[in-house]
Amino acid sequence: MFRKLTLAALLLNCSVGLAVAGDVQDQNGGKPDPLARGVHKARDAAPGSGAAGTSPLMTYHGGKIMPTAVTQVILWGPSWSNPTFAADKIAGLDSWYAGHSNSNYAKTSDEWTGTNGQVGPSNTHLGHLIDTSTATGGGKTAAILAEVCKMVTNPDPSGNGYYAVYTDVKRGHAGYCAWHSAGTCGGKPVQFAFFFNLDGDSGCDPADTSGLHSQGLAALASVTAHELAEARSDPASPGAWYDGSGQENGDKCAWTFGAPLVTFSNGTKWKLQGEWSNIAYNAGTGYPNSSGQKGCLSGL
Ligand SMILES: [Zn+2]
Repeated sequence: MFRKLTLAALLLNCSVGLAVAGDVQDQNGGKPDPLARGVHKARDAAPGSGAAGTSPLMTYHGGKIMPTAVTQVILWGPSWSNPTFAADKIAGLDSWYAGHSNSNYAKTSDEWTGTNGQVGPSNTHLGHLIDTSTATGGGKTAAILAEVCKMVTNPDPSGNGYYAVYTDVKRGHAGYCAWHSAGTCGGKPVQFAFFFNLDGDSGCDPADTSGLHSQGLAALASVTAHELAEARSDPASPGAWYDGSGQENGDKCAWTFGAPLVTFSNGTKWKLQGEWSNIAYNAGTGYPNSSGQKGCLSGL
């Protein structure tokens, strides 16, 4: 399923700007439109094909990677002005991005190279922006890109901006928790991601029992890790690293965990899935993904 989405994205991006489908939420079985990359499926959504008989290794497809990421959180929707809803999420997300930089967890994506160099472990977090206007769901990438361009007046000039849009919209029957994509704002390339409100959503919950975070924040942290890893290794058309069934490094280890908690560079701890490593798989040193392939790393 994901492979089809990625192929469609590659084709459509040849004439970018364009053709974002109508309300795919309804037309397409709860999937976002084809311009979304790195769709993070819910736990109960149909699994990937597994591409029986093909190599589990990810291969390079000729595109750029993100040598670094300049991250900014965009909190979109009226609920973000409600302290009960916001709870620990805003400070928690800022802390997550700050602590991700130079963490051992971030380094699990450092083996990936592209036309513009190699993925590096550092990111620069610019904090958060709040927009209390009514948010859209994730069915249309163009709507999320428009929100990014509205809120970010000066995107990172190096093209390494990564703008993560956290909405107060519930997932409903959508089969995914989040996705990442790429586009331009004022001619500058940007990476961006979409996240549903995952409060009380067991289909997108890592079941963090540490007591360190609210359930809603713990769930956002989990899918945030997945999307950022994928954006760094496969940010945009024509694509960088994914396997024969279109699975990116986050997809290949989704909903599997190498440790109860991962510790970040600022000392914060999170329950996060691992990320796929060809090196670890070849050496047999990763922990197994849901298909039993030992290529997942948590950066412990
Ligand atoms: Zn994904």
